[in-house]
Amino acid sequence: NKQVIFRNFITGLPKETDMELRTSKLSLKVAEGCRALIVKNLFLSCDPYMRGRMREFYGSYIPPFQPGAVIEGFGISKVVESDHPNFQVGDIVTGMTGWEEYSLIEKPDRLRKIDPRGLPLSYYLGLLGMPGFTAYAGFYEVCSPQKGEFAFVSAASGAVGQLVGQLAKLHGCYVVGSAGSKEKVDLLKNKFGFDEAFNYKVESDLNAALRRYFPQGIDIYFDNVGGTMLDAALLNMRDHGRIAICGMISQQSLSSTEGVYNLYSVIMRRVKVQGFLQSDYLHLYPQFTEAIINYFKEGKIVYVEDMNEGLESGPSAFVRLFSGKNVGKQVVRVAHE
Ligand code: NDP
Repeated sequence: NKQVIFRNFITGLPKETDMELRTSKLSLKVAEGCRALIVKNLFLSCDPYMRGRMREFYGSYIPPFQPGAVIEGFGISKVVESDHPNFQVGDIVTGMTGWEEYSLIEKPDRLRKIDPRGLPLSYYLGLLGMPGFTAYAGFYEVCSPQKGEFAFVSAASGAVGQLVGQLAKLHGCYVVGSAGSKEKVDLLKNKFGFDEAFNYKVESDLNAALRRYFPQGIDIYFDNVGGTMLDAALLNMRDHGRIAICGMISQQSLSSTEGVYNLYSVIMRRVKVQGFLQSDYLHLYPQFTEAIINYFKEGKIVYVEDMNEGLESGPSAFVRLFSGKNVGKQVVRVAHE
């Protein structure tokens, strides 16, 4: 059983060498009465929150990875052995699994069975998985959007950002996205239908860039990056604007976070700033799935994923998130069904 092992706690940006490949033995049988499953992993998801689990003190809702243990993350898997009444051999499931070819799932109750409904299975890690749900819950529940409002999304071509922008357009907002390359900016304007987009890496003054794209100010900022972009957005908010703090990927690998200097705008503009976790909104999952599948099938939204092939490519695929090399949702194909 090939596996990707977490080597040790890190500081700074994650590197491929923070993980290593190992081969170990796994019996493909489960003991009777243990209610466990053996699954064959098909796709693994690379998600920014996993960087947090590489830190010894994390103080979070999810414990750190254990040095020497298999990396864990969201995956799509096929049941190959089951001692659990709710799961049959052949079922396709999603939930937490190991970065390995086969995993023993001791507590399968948190896995969800997937009926792909004609869509590629890997989409259930992105568009129809946790990142897509983050976009849906964050946009509708936290941003309180109104038709005609001015919306800004950072890391806009990524797994979460691409859907936020498209939902905002469908809602009748004017939408601008920022991303880290010309290729991504073109994608935002030509594929995802953003009204405007810019490459933040070539802007010397983010405040001026936002003023250029939002001469009347921003009603909604969906923040995926934090740091200097958040600071610049604060200066450009309109009265009663909303900022949804979804993620801070620009700060995640720093030992102390950069200062945010423009909080005074929150008072001046009466801005509502709210951090959120997608897991707070799980009751909306069924309506999210219906809405997104329908939008996708009707051609109202599109989806871009970035697929790496083979378990061995897991570490490099994960590291890509932090240099922006991924174009769209980063996934790894471990095996074909
Ligand atoms: P993406 O697919 O957007 O991939 C990460 C992207 O972040 C990169 O492609 C890169 O895009 C950008 N990036 C990387 N480093 C930096 C940096 N230093 N400064 C600015 N941008 C950077 O990831 P996701 O869509 O999966 O996640 C987006 C955000 O949402 C993350 O912050 C994540 O932690 C958060 N999140 C929050 C959840 C919640 O419940 N609150 C749930 C899921 C995700 P570019 O080339 O454009 O710079």
